Amino acid sequence: MSPLKEVVKAEEGEIYDIELEEDLLRANEELAAKNRELLKKHNVMAIDVMGSIGSGKTTLIEKLVRALKKKYRIAVFKGDLTTTIDAELIERHGVEAVPINTGKECHLDANLVRKALQKINLEDINLLFIENVGNLICPADFPLGSEKRIVVISVTEGPYMIVKHPFIFMNADVVVINKKDLAQAMGVDIEKLKADAKEINPNIKVAVTNARTGEGVKEVIDALGL
Ligand code: MG
Ligand code: ZN
Repeated sequence: MSPLKEVVKAEEGEIYDIELEEDLLRANEELAAKNRELLKKHNVMAIDVMGSIGSGKTTLIEKLVRALKKKYRIAVFKGDLTTTIDAELIERHGVEAVPINTGKECHLDANLVRKALQKINLEDINLLFIENVGNLICPADFPLGSEKRIVVISVTEGPYMIVKHPFIFMNADVVVINKKDLAQAMGVDIEKLKADAKEINPNIKVAVTNARTGEGVKEVIDALGL
């Protein structure tokens, strides 16, 4: 077998991607700070829920809403490209859900969140979940103004999901390792995933869940201090 070819590496700025433009990132950060201020003024705790496609973000939010809706007045922002399926799933639980469609964009930004914040009465809520578009990469660069950030991964994404996407875990407060019931079938070692997360971010809290059954959801609530 011939040796592996040398890695082709993109230089910084070489990939044309509007998301990486510094001005844009700065503008986003300014808007995120405004969102944060607004949320604080109304005593709303906002929590980002990030994670890849199909990791179980919506299912987890549904379970969190169910467990917390007596204690908190909750709203959910639901980022998706074009659909409102998830927002409808969440609304069944009797909380307000605002769908945010990004079109072709693969992440939410502070401007879209600002617009969604205008659609709800912040006096009516004190807890807000913001589900990002399924993506482990650029949401890391776009703060939205939330107080805490959760990253949901599932064992079905394989054993290297965390080490391959370190940036999103660096600024997260909680990592949720979901679909624990499938770990053995997938040949994934949950303890190794936990260790990977802690190595990237020693302060990150880890919860292991089966969001479909609700197993471990209490751990997530504790990790968020809710
Ligand atoms: Mg979803
Ligand atoms: Zn993106």
